[in-house]
Amino acid sequence: MKERLQQLQQEALEKIAQASDLKALNDVRVAYLGKKGPITEVLRGMGALSPEERPIMGALANEVRAAIQSALEEKQAKLEQEEIEKKLASEAIDVTLPGRPVRLGNHHPLTRVIEEIEDLFIGMGYTIAEGPEVEKDYYNFEALNLPKGHPARDMQDSFYITEEILLRTHTSPVQARTMEKHQGRGPVKIICPGKVYRRDNDDATHSHQFTQIEGLVVDENIRMSDLKGTLQAFAKKMFGEDREIRFRPSFFPFTEPSVEVDVSCFNCGGHGCNVCKGTGWIEILGAGMVHPNVLEMAGFDSKKYTGFAFGMGPERIAMLKYGIDDIRHFYQNDLRFLQQFNRA
Ligand SMILES: [Zn+2]
Repeated sequence: MKERLQQLQQEALEKIAQASDLKALNDVRVAYLGKKGPITEVLRGMGALSPEERPIMGALANEVRAAIQSALEEKQAKLEQEEIEKKLASEAIDVTLPGRPVRLGNHHPLTRVIEEIEDLFIGMGYTIAEGPEVEKDYYNFEALNLPKGHPARDMQDSFYITEEILLRTHTSPVQARTMEKHQGRGPVKIICPGKVYRRDNDDATHSHQFTQIEGLVVDENIRMSDLKGTLQAFAKKMFGEDREIRFRPSFFPFTEPSVEVDVSCFNCGGHGCNVCKGTGWIEILGAGMVHPNVLEMAGFDSKKYTGFAFGMGPERIAMLKYGIDDIRHFYQNDLRFLQQFNRA
C-alpha cells in the first residue's frame, strides 16, 4: 500500500509538471484528488490493515495528498501568470507607430442634389414639409382628385399594404396633408422632399424606390406666370444662368392645366446633341395649376384661392447634372461611384 501511494504521488506530480494549461491541470486534480480517484480508493482498503499500521498509512496518505495539492497550487499560479503575460504581449500597443488616417465620408450625390434644391427654395421663402411614407389611400389618391377606379391610378402601380394603406407613390400626399392643416387659409408655400415607391421593374431609368421633390404654392392671385418664373429661377440655379425653360401641355389629375417642363440643353446650348436627343430641350419636371377639386377637398375656397404645384425627380436632375447613365448607381452604394462626388 505504501508503494502504491508513493507511485500515485509520483505519477500525479509528473502529470502536473506536464499540464500546459489550466484546463489540463484541473483534469489532473479531478483524476487524483476527486472522490472517485485512486487515493480515495487506497484509503478504502485501510480496513484490512492492522491497528498499528493504520495511523502510519493514514499519515502517509495525507502527506501524499498534501504534496499533490501543493504542487497543483504552485503550477496553477505559474500558469495564471503565464496567461497574463501572454495577454499583455498580444495586446501590446506600439505607441510609436504612425496613426491610421481617418477616411472622411461624404454626402451621397442624391442628398447633395436634394439639399441644393431645398436651399434654393428656402431662399425663395418656402418651408420644408414632410409626411409618412406609409400613406392612406385617401391622401395618396382621393384627396388629389384620383377617386377609386380613376384610370389615372394605373399610371402609378402601387404597393398596397391593405386596401386603404399603401406605400406612397408620390410626395403629393404631403401637399394634401399640409393644405388640410391650413384649414382653408393661405398662403401655403412648401416643398416636400422624400422617398416614394412604385411597382416597377428596376432598369437604367426605373427604380421601385426613388425620391421626389414636390412644390406647392396656394394663395390669392397665384398665376401660371408665377409658376413659370419660379421654375425659370430653379433651372438657372441647377443648370446654369443661360438656361431657358418651356412648357408643353400635359395631363395630371391634380393640376389643371398641366404642363411638362423642359430646360434648354446645358450640353449644347440648344443646338442639338445626344444629351437632348437632338431637340435642344430636356424634360425635367411636371407641373400645373392646382385643380379646383384638390383645393376644395382640402377646405380651400377655389374661387378665392389658386395655386401651382410641381414635382421633380432628384435622381433625374442628378443624372443630368453629373452625367450619370444608370439610376441604379444611386442605390448600390458602390464606393467607386460614390467617391467621385467627394468634395476636394
Ligand atoms: Zn443638347
